[in-house]
Amino acid sequence: MMHAHILGFPRIGAARELKVVLEAYWAGKIERSELERTARDLRARHWAQQRDAGLDFVTVGDFAYYDQVLNASALVGAIPARFRAHAAGDHGGGNADVDLDTLFLMARGRSRCGCDAPAAEMTKWFDTNYHYLVPELTADQQFTLSSQRLFDEVREAQALGHAVKAVVIGPLTYLWLSKAYGGDFERLDLLDRLLPVYAQVLQQLADLGVTWVQVDEPILSLDLPAAWQAAFESAYNRLQTRSINVLLTTYFGPLADNLWLASRLPVAGLHIDVTRSGDEWRRVIDNLSEYKVLSLGLVDARNIWRADLGRLAGIAREAHARLGERLWIASSASLQHVPVDLRNETTLPAETLSWLAFAVQKLDEVQILRLAASEPDSPVVCAAIASAESALASRRAAAWRRNDGVRQRVAALTAADSLRAPYAERARQQQALLQLPPLPTTTIGSFPQTTEIRQARAAFKAGRISQSEYEHAMRAFVAESVQVQEDLGLDVLVHGEPERNDMVEYFGEQLEGFLFTRNGWVQSYGSRCVKPPIIAGDVSRPAPMTVSWAQFAQSLTRKPMKGMLTGPVTILCWSFPRDDLAREDIAAQIALAIRDEVVDLEAAGIQVIQIDEPAFREGLPLRKSEQAAYWLWAVEAFRLSASGVRSETQIHTHMCYSDFNDCIRQIAAMDADVITIETARSAMELLQVFSEFSYPNAIGPGVYDIHSPRVPGADAMQHLLVEALHQIPAERLWVNPDCGLKTRGWPEVKAALAEMVRATRILRAELAEKATAEVLSA
Ligand code: GLN
Ligand code: ZN
Repeated sequence: MMHAHILGFPRIGAARELKVVLEAYWAGKIERSELERTARDLRARHWAQQRDAGLDFVTVGDFAYYDQVLNASALVGAIPARFRAHAAGDHGGGNADVDLDTLFLMARGRSRCGCDAPAAEMTKWFDTNYHYLVPELTADQQFTLSSQRLFDEVREAQALGHAVKAVVIGPLTYLWLSKAYGGDFERLDLLDRLLPVYAQVLQQLADLGVTWVQVDEPILSLDLPAAWQAAFESAYNRLQTRSINVLLTTYFGPLADNLWLASRLPVAGLHIDVTRSGDEWRRVIDNLSEYKVLSLGLVDARNIWRADLGRLAGIAREAHARLGERLWIASSASLQHVPVDLRNETTLPAETLSWLAFAVQKLDEVQILRLAASEPDSPVVCAAIASAESALASRRAAAWRRNDGVRQRVAALTAADSLRAPYAERARQQQALLQLPPLPTTTIGSFPQTTEIRQARAAFKAGRISQSEYEHAMRAFVAESVQVQEDLGLDVLVHGEPERNDMVEYFGEQLEGFLFTRNGWVQSYGSRCVKPPIIAGDVSRPAPMTVSWAQFAQSLTRKPMKGMLTGPVTILCWSFPRDDLAREDIAAQIALAIRDEVVDLEAAGIQVIQIDEPAFREGLPLRKSEQAAYWLWAVEAFRLSASGVRSETQIHTHMCYSDFNDCIRQIAAMDADVITIETARSAMELLQVFSEFSYPNAIGPGVYDIHSPRVPGADAMQHLLVEALHQIPAERLWVNPDCGLKTRGWPEVKAALAEMVRATRILRAELAEKATAEVLSA
């Protein structure tokens, strides 16, 4: 029988129910049983939705209290030593099972019982904005089946009467995503020890009567070293079993040179992401053994546009003609990357509702495509295709989506538009204007978003307070922040961003071409969700977006006030992009809007402007062959946004991820006058690449981690700065925290910044002394 299924469903809940109970549990406000009850209700609801849509299986194992990779670590018992005492202690529940509180301790660095230990590192899941917890493996790593959670959830679904397909992260992908700690060894060396646990998992699932297990190996869409390719063969040979069918899944890109390998693995089925692999599916069919099923991921799990059912039905029909009942229809990947249910959107313009599909709507699309494959002429199929086509036509026809002025501006761009004078010249002019002391101090933009700030913003949005009352309240917060910075003795000030809910949404709301959801939440990590705006049409800026705030803040101080903007690449990466214009063209449109804002800030007397690009590295395609093209347009978009101003206007950028090794040339090509980066957690290791590359412009390496409420001492920061001075000459070194301070509280922020200023002053004095000594000895 031809099957329809999805690779996973969002677990957070349409109303973010999971977030609410998680945070209440962490705060000690509810009992564990209540947390578990909500989780169970969510799973039951999501499974029912899959069944009601007509899918053949419910997917079990996609639920996670915090993160699916963390779940995999628990499953195979990869618990780093510093958490093991907790796991084994009274809190561990007295059995070998990794307890929920241990998971939270690993994820958050603290648990309800008061234990703490440095949290596991978090990093981005492939090219998504979802963050997973990096498994930490050691040379003597042992693996044992250490969590029953997956099996419990299988039983739970079975008790509800569902046919179950279980899902686990594959052994190769698990190892690839992990980090090797201590000692000289390859992660791949651990495969032999890991596989028996996987075999056990498969057996236990089979014993529960599960017939299919989805084994996720998305690394098959990466350029894999030969050793890893070879490991796939041996691993899946060894996992072969007659007791359960393995559906090996790959997504987020084409198989490319892994195609032959993936098609030949001894598994019962293969899933591929058709939305991102062109017509590779035909070649996969050519290579597929007679006994295997092929699951085609036709429905886009990464974007919110309603599927073009007519076109996809064509693929389904052709594949069905070749594969018959061996064809399965699916979502391209897990639906965890899209919001839950469009029916909760009440404020979107009516005409746009028909253009969109969230997770729940995508279930229906999967089901209809399955039907379309075998019964293309059935009335249901014809009606669904006609309705999808009219939605597409309505989107194409919407006049507001087109802005010829922007199109012409982009078409007329020349190299000169993204060129500034040479850095050395700019630096001289900027210093003449700004007169900054050596090692200038600054912050990254946001100050604590207090309850009062959030309440005022919410009241304004709900119409409970007037525009002028709102602005009055926000101005008071700005004034307070400026005063604090003056008192601390910082050199380049910021207004504190109280008026911003989110660094992308804030700009999107003021730009033309965007749509906004009310409940379009997508999990970013743990309990944190974001609501990505939707880029639906040409982007333009009808009016200044930040100028009055910056101007007001500048009026309160004689120190330079830094204007604060989000960069074009980040706005693009953290939105749902339109699917009818190339990413680079969307980026250029946004860049022009930001450029206009930069120019207006300058005209309003703002001399320092920061254009944040924390997502700059994240937009990088997974395949090396596509990366050069990305860098070209991404760098160009940033430069375009920054190059409309005079040489004496200082442009900053900020990035906060920890690997510049593969993009230092591109960072240099952005040519920002100052780049501030997150470095404190890696103890300045990061700077090495800047010094090896002889990065030419100024750098502000973060001197303290903003993710923790701990107040670091001046000593520690001074130490980091001395370290930094080995790599970066003093004239080009800035002093700042790792990132914005909006998640912190004022007392700790004031204390930490005071220490930062103190550390800087001590070093300045030392530098001055050294300079004098040099003059005297000359
Ligand atoms: N300016 C932003 C802030 O300070 C930057 C945030 C970020 O890098 N993610 O909040
Ligand atoms: Zn940051």
